Amino acid sequence: MSTPLVILLAAGAGLVWGVHAWWMSRRLQSARRDPLTGLWTREAFTRRARRLLRNPRAVVLLADVDKFKRVNDTHGHAAGDALLAATAARLAHAVGRSGVVGRLGGDEFAAVLIDGDDTAVARFAVLSRVLARPIDAAPEVHTTVSLGWVRRADHPTEDLSGLLRRADEAMYAAKRGSGRVRRAGLMRLLPTVAGRRAGRRGAA
Ligand code: GH3
Ligand code: MG
Repeated sequence: MSTPLVILLAAGAGLVWGVHAWWMSRRLQSARRDPLTGLWTREAFTRRARRLLRNPRAVVLLADVDKFKRVNDTHGHAAGDALLAATAARLAHAVGRSGVVGRLGGDEFAAVLIDGDDTAVARFAVLSRVLARPIDAAPEVHTTVSLGWVRRADHPTEDLSGLLRRADEAMYAAKRGSGRVRRAGLMRLLPTVAGRRAGRRGAA
């Protein structure tokens, strides 16, 4: 066989292999993404979140749409889907590329971000208002999203599962709190609320 032909065949084989590897990695990647929102699935989120939690400035955030069942019942499943997709996009935008956001299931989302400049709480206040804005795809839908968060530095021995549980408790306190305040850090927890939902969920 002539040398140019060998080179051509080798290049062809390399190209086929490269396309196959690219296609496989795309398929793997999409399996880790929630199809409706494009966010990481719980498992993929967990892996990335654990890495970020090595940073003492990490903050774990939990978000849950308020009265989402009513949105589905009143405006239809398609409007509910649009709201979930928009909520996911707004969360991802707020958290940015240095953090990670996942859809844990249903109308519940989690994020880990690095609060390098101590602005997280102020950013959550803005985020809370942004999440309550109507969306273009379903402007008739009006609801809010409850937020709860916990700082890694306040619980250095907790794993992701424990931190998510604490953020969930804070989120639950916000949900049950005043209709005007839909966000709470752990420090705002009422003692009666703390632990009520402990064990409800975990990442591991
Ligand atoms: P709360 O204010 O306490 O958060 O109550 P809620 O009505 O939001 O109740 P809950 O979080 O328990 O309800 C979640 C609902 O989300 C239940 C389920 O029917 C609906 N749901 C779960 N996945 C999807 C989805 O992918 N699309 C749509 N449209 N609805 C979904
Ligand atoms: Mg809900």
